[in-house]
Amino acid sequence: MLFSEVCKVFMKIEETSKRTEKIHHFIKLIRMAEKENSPSSLRKICYLSIGRVYPEYESKELGIGPSMLIEAVKSIGIKEKDLLEAIKETGDIGIAIEKLSSQIKQASLFQQPLTLDDVYDTLKKVGEIEGESSQKKKIRYISNLLLRATPLERRYIARIILEDMRIGMNIPTILSAFSKYFGIPKEKLERIYAVVNDIGLLGEKLLMGVDIDKDEDLKLKLFRPIRPMLAQIAPSIKDAIEEIGTPQFETKYDGARVQIHRSGDKVKIYTRKLEDITNSLPEIVEEIKKLDRDNFIMEGECVAIDLNTGRPRPFQDILRRIRRKYDIEKMKEEISLRVYLFDILYHKEPLLDMPLKERRKILEEILSEDNDWEKKREKIEREIKSDKKIDISYKLVTRDVEKAEEFYRWSLGIGHEGVMIKNLNAVYTPGSRVRTMYKFKPTLESLDVVITKAKIGMGKRKDWYGSFEIAVRDEDGNLHPIGHVGSGLSEEELDRLSKMIDSIKIKEEGDEVIVKPEIVLEVTYEEIQESDKYSCGYALRFPRVVRIREDRPPEDINTLEDVKRIFQIQKGRRAEKN
Ligand code: AMP
Repeated sequence: MLFSEVCKVFMKIEETSKRTEKIHHFIKLIRMAEKENSPSSLRKICYLSIGRVYPEYESKELGIGPSMLIEAVKSIGIKEKDLLEAIKETGDIGIAIEKLSSQIKQASLFQQPLTLDDVYDTLKKVGEIEGESSQKKKIRYISNLLLRATPLERRYIARIILEDMRIGMNIPTILSAFSKYFGIPKEKLERIYAVVNDIGLLGEKLLMGVDIDKDEDLKLKLFRPIRPMLAQIAPSIKDAIEEIGTPQFETKYDGARVQIHRSGDKVKIYTRKLEDITNSLPEIVEEIKKLDRDNFIMEGECVAIDLNTGRPRPFQDILRRIRRKYDIEKMKEEISLRVYLFDILYHKEPLLDMPLKERRKILEEILSEDNDWEKKREKIEREIKSDKKIDISYKLVTRDVEKAEEFYRWSLGIGHEGVMIKNLNAVYTPGSRVRTMYKFKPTLESLDVVITKAKIGMGKRKDWYGSFEIAVRDEDGNLHPIGHVGSGLSEEELDRLSKMIDSIKIKEEGDEVIVKPEIVLEVTYEEIQESDKYSCGYALRFPRVVRIREDRPPEDINTLEDVKRIFQIQKGRRAEKN
């Protein structure tokens, strides 16, 4: 398949802002792959259309930043000064190269036009180059590719390299296109996608015509991390009991979620962003290896513990451990970790369709412990200060509101965030916010939002960005601004955030920059108001940053639905008070 044909469709997709039209054009790409009888082409198209080369579950990147790309562009004849000027003007390196194409040295006349495979395979190769003079080699491959490309192809090659496609395709839109073309309900595709996290693989399998309910590659497997199931907010403990009956309450630990995969001596630990953090947590890996069962995927919350008090240390400490790439042994001495395991998703086979009751039983068997708070409170309290590295979450199964509230207050008393309230009959639905698992915290719910714009600060803050436009998302992945936040950040955080913002800038508009929506903030606020200031109809009153959530992917931020729900809960709480 010619790459130029694919690019023409990419351009059509880019030119429309209507989702239905984007879907319509994407279906043309599916048809092109089908006509050539090439499911693998569809796989590559899927990745490229979202600016990737590797599947989403792999944290691997091409490793080429803007400066390296500029080097490659210079080497084929474009003048640096012109290039920088054009980038500034258009805010888009892809368009800049396309526009300046007349400066490029002519490739040989006998050159074959680029195929999709040429482009994809070269980029994949570039990502795999390592070691000495890897930078030079990468630049050489890219210059060759750009040299052979047409101006339009250059636009997209440059953007793919920087992993910023800007044609407005995202996973929900591709899934809608698959649903329409292959006649499969979107919810079903969403469920499979949440397990595989590989849109290319799903596209390829659909075009191959496999039975998607039975295909082994589309099932949960070891060492391919999945998106976790997310909780909803409960208005109160009483409400949750009324809805669920007899739930299992668990302490809601204040930490970072981890997914642990083990087969024999091979152990991998992933974050909820699906990043591999195995090397940062050697003591946890060791503990997991000591268990006498293997072949499993477990989930838990990783907490930094102050061993003198048994209380959790600030969230920042966990991030310091997770992000650490060197001096890990030293860091291990400084910050003690404990993982509270709360679920098992795989043991010799996928367990997702098993009710929580049974999954918990398996987990308790493997860990030889149940941490039933009613029966073992004293033992639990003794062990909080021990240097236990892994444990099972504390639980209380009850329909007694008072008892549940006591457990909730006790959980707060040991320094954690609140409680999780889980339906014991519920299956595990990866990647979605379910009504079978609730969280209850003392404060009005904080929101996870993503930064869409940043504004240069004033006075003392003039060297940093000082105010950030924040947005929630809707079911289709579209972002909706809901406020501006500037307070709550320390100088160190402002500095770090400003560097992060600079690395994902898309466009400058006066003293404001538009950024790729990648940085997740957890914010509190005084209340949610109905407001016509933002098109979504709501605004956060006095938002304040609680922390930068580097452990969370932007796909997991709160939705407009959540905002509406919290707005209702807030109204209810206010009515109760009056
Ligand atoms: P939130 O981050 O407020 O949406 O709350 C859900 C998060 O709480 C999950 O993603 C987990 O990271 C965390 N969590 C802490 N303790 C538990 C627990 N016992 N069960 C499930 N999730 C927990």
